[in-house]
Amino acid sequence: MVRGYPGRQIERVVTHRIVLANQVYMGCTLVSAAVLPDQVHGAERDLADPGEPAPGSAQQRAPIPIIYIAGYGRSGTTLLDIALGQHPEIMGGGEIATLARHVWPNDEYCACGVPVRQCSTWSGIVARWSEGETPWLIPEFRRAQWRTETLVGLGRLIERVRSSRHAARTAKLFEAIVAQSGRAIVVDSSKLPGRAFALAATPGIQLTVVHVVRDPRGVAWSLKKGFLRQVEAGVQRELRPKPLLYTALRWTIVNLAAERLCRRVGADRSLRVRYEDFVADPRPVLRDILARVDHEDAREPASIPAGPMRPQHQVAGSRHRMQPEIVLRQDEVWKKVMPRFQRWLVTLVCAPLLRRYGYAFRLTESEGRKA
Ligand SMILES: [Zn+2]
Repeated sequence: MVRGYPGRQIERVVTHRIVLANQVYMGCTLVSAAVLPDQVHGAERDLADPGEPAPGSAQQRAPIPIIYIAGYGRSGTTLLDIALGQHPEIMGGGEIATLARHVWPNDEYCACGVPVRQCSTWSGIVARWSEGETPWLIPEFRRAQWRTETLVGLGRLIERVRSSRHAARTAKLFEAIVAQSGRAIVVDSSKLPGRAFALAATPGIQLTVVHVVRDPRGVAWSLKKGFLRQVEAGVQRELRPKPLLYTALRWTIVNLAAERLCRRVGADRSLRVRYEDFVADPRPVLRDILARVDHEDAREPASIPAGPMRPQHQVAGSRHRMQPEIVLRQDEVWKKVMPRFQRWLVTLVCAPLLRRYGYAFRLTESEGRKA
């Protein structure tokens, strides 16, 4: 584990950069919202669906139900993916966005404990996905991801004038996951709201968005701890400690984007989940999620076995997925050990969303530390 806290000078520089990026992002968001409110979505569908669907095409088949978990890191997104994957009709896929980006090219570890190319599930999925494709499927798909999964959606505009091949390949990947796993519903916990905007515009997919939030003070405290690279333990690269202000600002940006995503897909296809509520009592949360999935196999999670959870083939995500069994526990150690100044710094930056998500500004006497 890497410890240590970068100096204030570094934090000031980082904060300046983040504030600048935030302003650019907000400007782009306002422009894109003004210029292409919801027409992007419709226009992409029009482009990808120019006429009568071809026999056997994604448009003709019933859409594949995808549960997309959006949110910021260290917020329990992988744990929710694993919990949903306990359902016999749900394939917990982990951060599927990373498959072509680095997991398959680097042969990184699957949650089942072996490198992904030795995992029968993912090697079978990629074999099905590659049928009839060029040998350059993975690099071409990766480049198209960079264009289409940007947060502000400008890349999706560029993609419109290219072709709908990437959309077809995206649907084909999820079809391969369903066929290989034998499970009708797929969880994608890639977190990034930009990817979900692209998936929402992909024919052949029926998207349900779960926006996961966690108290940003807990997130910031968790991200102050770094981890050395341990490939077999699920840490594919060194994770450096993140300055508090960096986390607070990014947490705000990502959650605002996730809120916009939920508005885009609609209230009947999205919901917000607090990490703390999920860990305290997962069953009502899972029930609420499944109620929004329009598929006969998405029923009351009575079929989810009680007791410890067992990860499946989450292709990437937090290191917890490499444990053979997981018991959900509240992680509120930050309330006892996080210095008061640091707590207040994060509280100040995140105040508007803290209130919206129902987190108290102050800790109770029994929760907080004295320092
Ligand atoms: Zn596996």
